[in-house]
Amino acid sequence: MKAIRRFTVQPVLPESLDALDELATNLRWSWHLPTRELFEQLSPPAWEATGHDPIAVLGTLDAARIAELADDERLIARANALRDDLHDYLGKPRWYQSLPDGVPQSIAYLSPEFGIAAALPQYSGGLGILAGDHLKSASDLGVPVIAAGLFYRSGYFAQAISSDGWQQESYPVLDPDGLPLTVLRHPDGTAARVVLALPDDRALHARIWQVAVGRVTLLLLDSDIPENEDSLRSVTDRLYGGGGEHRLLQELLLGIGGVRAIDLHARLTGTPLPEVFHTNEGHAGFLGLERISNLIGGGLNFAAALEVVRASTVFTTHTPVPAGIDRFEADLVERYFSTSLLPGVAVADVLALGAEDYEGGTEDTFNMAVMGLRLAQRANGVSKLHGEVSRRMFGSLWPGFDSEEVPIASITNGVHAPTWTDRAVTRLAAEKLETTDTTACDWLSDAVTDADLWSLRGELRAKLVDDARRRMTAAWTAQHPGAVPPAWYSTLLDPDTLTIGFARRVPTYKRLTLMLHDEDRLRSILLDPERPVQIVVAGKSHPADDEGKRLIQRLVRFANEPAIRGRLVFLPNYDIGMAQTLYPGTDVWLNNPLRPLEACGTSGMKAAMNGSLNLSILDGWWAEFFDGENGWAIPSADAAGDSAERDALEAGALYDLIEHQVAPRFYDRGEDGVPTRWVESIRHTLSTLSPQLSADRMVREYVERLYVPAAASTRVLTAEDAKGARELAAWRQRIVQAWPAVSVGNVESGGVDAVPQVGDELHVRAQVHLGGLSIDDVTVQLLHGSVRSDDDLLAPERLALEPDESGPSGAMPPDADSARFAGSVPLAKAGSFGYTVRVLPRHPGLTSGVELGLVAVAPGSDRA
Ligand SMILES: *Cc1c(COP(=O)(O)O)cnc(C)c1O
Repeated sequence: MKAIRRFTVQPVLPESLDALDELATNLRWSWHLPTRELFEQLSPPAWEATGHDPIAVLGTLDAARIAELADDERLIARANALRDDLHDYLGKPRWYQSLPDGVPQSIAYLSPEFGIAAALPQYSGGLGILAGDHLKSASDLGVPVIAAGLFYRSGYFAQAISSDGWQQESYPVLDPDGLPLTVLRHPDGTAARVVLALPDDRALHARIWQVAVGRVTLLLLDSDIPENEDSLRSVTDRLYGGGGEHRLLQELLLGIGGVRAIDLHARLTGTPLPEVFHTNEGHAGFLGLERISNLIGGGLNFAAALEVVRASTVFTTHTPVPAGIDRFEADLVERYFSTSLLPGVAVADVLALGAEDYEGGTEDTFNMAVMGLRLAQRANGVSKLHGEVSRRMFGSLWPGFDSEEVPIASITNGVHAPTWTDRAVTRLAAEKLETTDTTACDWLSDAVTDADLWSLRGELRAKLVDDARRRMTAAWTAQHPGAVPPAWYSTLLDPDTLTIGFARRVPTYKRLTLMLHDEDRLRSILLDPERPVQIVVAGKSHPADDEGKRLIQRLVRFANEPAIRGRLVFLPNYDIGMAQTLYPGTDVWLNNPLRPLEACGTSGMKAAMNGSLNLSILDGWWAEFFDGENGWAIPSADAAGDSAERDALEAGALYDLIEHQVAPRFYDRGEDGVPTRWVESIRHTLSTLSPQLSADRMVREYVERLYVPAAASTRVLTAEDAKGARELAAWRQRIVQAWPAVSVGNVESGGVDAVPQVGDELHVRAQVHLGGLSIDDVTVQLLHGSVRSDDDLLAPERLALEPDESGPSGAMPPDADSARFAGSVPLAKAGSFGYTVRVLPRHPGLTSGVELGLVAVAPGSDRA
């Protein structure tokens, strides 16, 4: 019999245990080891059974145990001390407070998913975990972030695997009362609400849950409330559940509702309004439109409001895979915005922002990433390589520029070290290196011996083996209630065998089954009598992706072969909880995406922080950080004729590496049983990678490179009743109108002989037709450098030419509307040399001359 309704009855804790309540409701417990250990101590079995969930642990305590705890003075003292420590953490100045005045007072961060702890499953994969790590590091650094997202009743989904290997999804409904959430309320006690006007005079209402993530507040919008008609209660039912209209409704709520919730929260708590808005991928992009509407309400026109929004918005793109980008039918978007949803905003202006009206675009399509880039003056990809790929991918929004100049920067992702470092690693650092900061200690020090590190690895591997056995047994029991699990489950995997891990979502490009390319060869690797290998695999396929489910099935079927079962395991229901044991427990973390489709990839970073070595295609972060000592690079066969050939080549390289490099190094033991060479790589990984891979490094970069400059630009535009924004908007309009008449006329050069030599100075003078603009409106640049045989300039240097009023007027009489510009460059290098001249718009409100996507080049330089 199933219950038709369920709720969680909270225990009533005596006053002496108040501290426990407070510690359980701030998610700082998810990365604060002493607090975790306190909850574990309350009931170790419940701590395990609840998947490390303090609120659930408190819920399992019976009256007798509570009475016992209420009398336990040592425990009470410990809890109170931890509460004091939490208060200190929340109140004391941190890194951000040491920055010079003028940093933004508040920064909004919007994301469709947040992966903070297994106990709050509001994520599907890397994007969400990254958002969670961003909030945690922002908290640790004291960065005043206010975050917003959606509260999905069923999160993503729970995965089980049928006996024939097929993924089965279920959608357990979360009970907010059992989660670390509180309702945002008005002073009179009524719950705060946001409301969105919908077509046909309908309205979407949402309640606002608050989550305390250390110092950061996360607001989650929830449509499952009685004010909504039934069909709208399910808007926030699942993460990435529906398509089309359902997805659009979610994104309207996320972007527009998110800004409204943040405003309400600021008013109700007396905290500052955000000066900068950061959107994690395009899903939250409607936030810019809501802000435009507010600014129009404050007296600006659309164009000036757009300038303010652009200056204050940061957009991070996360995927070079087209399926990862939300696109809607323009008709659908038009219907939703032809309402009173956004007062003052014309639907045509909305549609223009998301239109794919460039070469290669699709008509009548509304593209969220394109809108994101148009609404944000600052944008970035998530690794160096992904920055390059994004500049190419979105280059058509800046026609006339080489992709290197497309204004999309990159900030490489990081991972939150206190969350992702196993406590055994932290303990070793504390004992031997006298610090708990594992990202900033000297792992090369003799204080940590090779034997210490090797026994650490053994401990972590054994923990993974235990966890895998427990998970497989539990999954089997859940599918065969009452039956006894197969005996071999208790000997699954081996705590001393070289262990390779592979876990991630299962989109095709991640190639879950590349390792099965040559099944016989894999079998012989696994079953090698001298140097055996075992592989632990996990990952969820999107419920609508049957192709992904077939990949899982193929792998599970292979893993079920009697000869190799126990050496290759697929663990069902990959989540943060599993990941926290899996990454540290693997000796080698495998990643074999189709380069360059992995934007960054973060699981390998989390593994590295625990001393696992990476074995990966040179994609995402690994392309940036592989150094020959910290793991292995699988060569990618980008140039292969077709995908089958490419898979064959790359799988072959993978097998070769395991057989000839990975396994031999792992099993090459000294007399003490320690693989010295392997341990060297572990030390090297921990000491060089950990600091670089930390989310603290990432968040500092966001602050310094994007948030602070965005706030500065915004203040310039909004001062004196937004005088700057009005001027910039008017200027932009003038430039756009005049631009077709701007051109480069005659270009003359001198200073070099018939045979130019190194050391000569090239003088260039160019005549520019200004189309009615003034010389202050433009920059005239000399682009110069080496050229290829097709005359293409290779990464040319740029020199701004200066207005030149003095020169002889004979050859180039300036007409009323043209001006001369001149400058010189030394010829520093022998070899081919070329140059050209171009004109760009110039304004102090722009981040660069490229921003507007307007350019006039000297005739001949733009030929294909
Ligand atoms: C880190 C993490 C991911 C993302 O891993 P990628 O390597 O970026 O694919 C996905 N799921 C969980 C549970 C994670 O912890």
